[in-house]
Amino acid sequence: MTVTRFAPSPTGHLHVGNIRTALHNWLLAHKSGGRFLLRIDDTDAERSREEYVEAIRADLAWLGLTIDGEQRQSARAPIYQDAFERLRAAGRVYRCYETAQELELKRKIQLGRGLPPIYDRAGLALDDADHARFAYQGVAPHWRFKLDHGEPIEWLDGIRGRQHFEPAQLSDPVVRRADGSWLYMLPSAIDDIEMGVTDVLRGEDHVSNTAAQTQMFTALGAEPPRFAHEALLVGREGKLSKRLGSLSVGALRDSGIEPQAVTALLARLGTSLPVEPIADIAVLANSFDLSTFGRAPARFDEAKLERLNHAIVHQLSYAEVADRLPAGMSEAAWLAVRPNLETVADATDWWQVIAGPVAAPALNEDDRRFLAEAAAHLAWSDDPWGALTGALKQATGRKGKSLFMPLRQALTGRDHGPDMHALLPLIGEKEARQRLERAAAG
Ligand code: GLU
Repeated sequence: MTVTRFAPSPTGHLHVGNIRTALHNWLLAHKSGGRFLLRIDDTDAERSREEYVEAIRADLAWLGLTIDGEQRQSARAPIYQDAFERLRAAGRVYRCYETAQELELKRKIQLGRGLPPIYDRAGLALDDADHARFAYQGVAPHWRFKLDHGEPIEWLDGIRGRQHFEPAQLSDPVVRRADGSWLYMLPSAIDDIEMGVTDVLRGEDHVSNTAAQTQMFTALGAEPPRFAHEALLVGREGKLSKRLGSLSVGALRDSGIEPQAVTALLARLGTSLPVEPIADIAVLANSFDLSTFGRAPARFDEAKLERLNHAIVHQLSYAEVADRLPAGMSEAAWLAVRPNLETVADATDWWQVIAGPVAAPALNEDDRRFLAEAAAHLAWSDDPWGALTGALKQATGRKGKSLFMPLRQALTGRDHGPDMHALLPLIGEKEARQRLERAAAG
């Protein structure tokens, strides 16, 4: 069974870039009836906040990304400790004492000599007396994972194809700080094993982490999961990061974007599949396919999201929106105005047009006389608009715009809007007659 996970750090609100990763993992799991897990990466106690954890859950729920299990890294210290002890006994983690400044200096010297800035493994050369001296000075060690330089690191990436790294070209990653706290890399590998994750799908900024993590899986006696790294999401003009605040889930929701528009766009952006207003996430899951992913950065275009949103709004059923409509607005009213909406919230304006009052338009004398005649001809039936315009055409010889426009203006107070066949029955006979008479009176 496919098991995927989304592993956000609760240090801020989710934005389109994170959501895309979450969505793709959800789709990958659901394509084959698998499970999608949420893992809260809150090892950084200072920057993690409970309000963000709650917001992440709420945002995923709003998007329809149901979760089949949740873990929090802050609650799993004993599991990490246990795995760490095993790595220590196997000689796969070692103590180091360099300060950040010392490491920076080493890097500068290497770069000055034209060498890659790889950690020199000075910590590995220390003996018991060295460690005792540091301990005596009250300097606690931080820990690095010892990469096995014995053979190249390789994996078949679900998006990038065959990947190859020479471990000697990588620094042994720091996995634990001097204060005992964990850095992201090792707990993530431990969790992926523990949680039975079969597929890790994440951004390509994690490719070199994967190189080190594949060795962590092996060192912990586990088969590495399948990995796939997707190209990053960029804005129309380049990097997205500057504008991420405006692209949070909350901001999108507040601007009238429907979750189905977000998922329809992000599911297919950067793939060879067409972006279409597909509201049913199961359809998106069935067509989800890593082999359709391109290697170029995916471009996020808000205008495209808005267009997609209009198309999604035009598909929403009354049941899906009823709790967001003004009190009293019926299903018939929703269906009548729906094709004219850009957002669900716009329905309120049209409900106002239906329920009234509407301002009488300023019309010339000719049109006013015409509307007086319209008020006289108004009769109620299944199709009062068809009957009214038919009768007026006969009686006045008007047709086209000169027939329809003054009627629309008098009945709705506007020049454009939903089909009058649908609107007039909703306005009702008495109210319609009053509007026509009022416009006729000027
Ligand atoms: N917390 C990590 C991040 O947000 C998770 C990366 C991963 O998917 O392993 O970058």
